[in-house]
Amino acid sequence: MSLIDEAWQRVHQRIAAACLACGREPSAVRLLAVSKTQTPDAVAQAARCGQRVFGENHVQEGIEKMLQVRQWQAAGLLGNVPTRWHLIGPLQSNKTRVVAEHFDWVQSIDRLKLAERLSAQRPEALAPLQVCIQVNIDASPTKAGVAPADALALAGSVAALPRLRLRGIMVIPDPVPDPRAQAQVFARAHELWLQLRQAGLPIDTLSMGMSADLEVAIAQGSTMVRVGSALFGERGVSAAV
Ligand SMILES: *Cc1c(COP(=O)(O)O)cnc(C)c1O
Repeated sequence: MSLIDEAWQRVHQRIAAACLACGREPSAVRLLAVSKTQTPDAVAQAARCGQRVFGENHVQEGIEKMLQVRQWQAAGLLGNVPTRWHLIGPLQSNKTRVVAEHFDWVQSIDRLKLAERLSAQRPEALAPLQVCIQVNIDASPTKAGVAPADALALAGSVAALPRLRLRGIMVIPDPVPDPRAQAQVFARAHELWLQLRQAGLPIDTLSMGMSADLEVAIAQGSTMVRVGSALFGERGVSAAV
């Protein structure tokens, strides 16, 4: 077994144990493998374990990696289930076209203009681009994301765009040493997610939790954990984002 193989199984065990502890089905939580700063080869190893969805922070790095991996797939080297690619990092307006042409999901929508451009630029031949609204749930001054109070309005406008499909919200709260305080932040995100659903938005994704706090996030209703270092090992300090 490769290191990634073992790590992948360990992360799945953590997800299953966390679900069991709060009475949820393990299938209710998806694992997004965050492959930023990792090589295409590391992605291929994870794909051989059965991992199909990958998250990238940087547009150019992500596109280069997915093109390489898709080439290996086309050559029959990685099985025939396609990989799916999520952009989870900040997106600038001038990069929306390449993102609309390559990614399957964008989780970092924090303003309507971005969403409008992505919808206009999504090629007709591709499925609608799946998107999440990024919410700055803990009002962190260093983080992107729409304020919680503005999330419903933005989500409503995004849901109406023809070439996008709104799937839910993403949050990246700052780490808090006390797990109970961390849980409260995640609980606020879950509450907001429920409000959007009650408002009639057909969303199914609450993207929250990373390597260090996925158990806390799952206990508070996360449906997708984004895990990098616990799968691939620590990222180099200079390469960390
Ligand atoms: C890097 C990153 C992750 C993964 O973080 P780990 O602590 O390595 O699991 C998750 N979400 C976002 C948005 C990231 O940038």
